[in-house]
Amino acid sequence: MPSFDKLASKYKSLRLNSTAESLTDIVRMAESNELSYIQFADILVTHELSSRDEKRILQNMKRAAFPILKHLEEFDYHFQTTVTKKQISRLLDFTFIDNRENIIFIGTPGVGKTHLAIGIGIKTVEAGYKVMFTTAMALIETLELAELKGELKKKINAILKFDVIIIDELGYLPMNRKGMFNLFQLINALYEYRSVILTTNKNFTSWGDFFFDDNVAVPVVDRLIHHSHIFMLGGDSYRLKQKISA
Ligand code: ADP
Ligand code: MG
Repeated sequence: MPSFDKLASKYKSLRLNSTAESLTDIVRMAESNELSYIQFADILVTHELSSRDEKRILQNMKRAAFPILKHLEEFDYHFQTTVTKKQISRLLDFTFIDNRENIIFIGTPGVGKTHLAIGIGIKTVEAGYKVMFTTAMALIETLELAELKGELKKKINAILKFDVIIIDELGYLPMNRKGMFNLFQLINALYEYRSVILTTNKNFTSWGDFFFDDNVAVPVVDRLIHHSHIFMLGGDSYRLKQKISA
């Protein structure tokens, strides 16, 4: 009979590391439960697969680069009443990703736009998708840097590898012509191919202001809102509420 050590190193040579580590436990468990051969074979492979899933999700959580972890479970729908839990929960069947639909949160500061975007983003990663979080500012900077290096296409292709791209705070600051053009290229590439979750403090009608030019604002807005779930969040700032009650 092979020793556990020898067996484990054979598993490791096939990169079945998780199985190698748990081999003793799995075998003992199978013996004491008198599992059939087929049950045992199933447990071995299921163990390896689920541990790979877990690792991948952890990795994707890091890659998502959420600036802070905000969970949907912590969102108070009694305070923010212009969106319902049902509306948000409905998105969590993730058909919006398969249908390449966007989610847009519009509202003044503090109404919970970023919280909802990150909350949905975390659930999306947990469901096995790849998510990328960025602020609009950082995104424009990244694109500009790539363009300077002659690598705009490459950068856009790298972004397209994510299933969902969260762009936070579009419209807080005006952008220059170049930034606007690069962003347009990206939105164009994402259109009907990947899902965007967008937060903005500006209503669509005033997007011309920060896009510098209505000729670009109109097609960008058009692409973003076509096939999208739009939430106009009203009410008071949660930050203000916390200040007042403190
Ligand atoms: P916005 O992006 O709309 O400016 P945030 O989502 O950043 O606002 O919310 C500001 C702060 O208030 C965050 O710490 C967020 O977690 C919290 N917050 C906002 N709305 C709610 C809510 N309805 N329930 C719980 N926390 C909230
Ligand atoms: Mg925000």
